[in-house]
Amino acid sequence: MIRVSLTQIILAYLILILTVLFGIWIGMDYLRKRRARTARKHKIHCSICGVIYEDTSDNPLPQCPNCQSVNERMKIQDI
Ligand SMILES: [Zn+2]
Repeated sequence: MIRVSLTQIILAYLILILTVLFGIWIGMDYLRKRRARTARKHKIHCSICGVIYEDTSDNPLPQCPNCQSVNERMKIQDI
């Protein structure tokens, strides 16, 4: 019979739990960042009137719904 002390069992269990939690945390963080990046991609801040609007089209110069001026898309920034 292989003798394993209670301390070793607890330690192995703790390491396992921490590894799983860390994996979940990394996964959640990755998904959150990806979602934020996608959301930011469609957000346009009007340089004329300051309105923030969404544009999901592929138009490189989307028009502001408030003042009808065209704006460049915001650069995608990673924080
Ligand atoms: Zn505007």
